[in-house]
Amino acid sequence: MERGFERLNCQACGIEIPAGGIFYIGRGEIISGSDGILPDTDESADRIIEKALHEIRKVKCEQELMDEVYQEIKLILCGRCRLLFRDRILEMIKY
Ligand SMILES: [Zn+2]
Repeated sequence: MERGFERLNCQACGIEIPAGGIFYIGRGEIISGSDGILPDTDESADRIIEKALHEIRKVKCEQELMDEVYQEIKLILCGRCRLLFRDRILEMIKY
């Protein structure tokens, strides 16, 4: 019995990538950054921890918390959408 190959589609426009055809993986990482400086407040350490815990409880789920620290976005792209993906990211850079 012949084993069928898995069909690939561009995840942006839906076009089918032909068997053996060229496709791209668009990948973006969003990583939480810090300049190492803690905001200077008059609050006690206990109060700061209490507020942080309150914020954590407010957040809907563990995955959302994780996504705030690190999120990887990955998609299969055809040649045309590769350029769109690149241009949209580059268009975000304004300063
Ligand atoms: Zn496409």
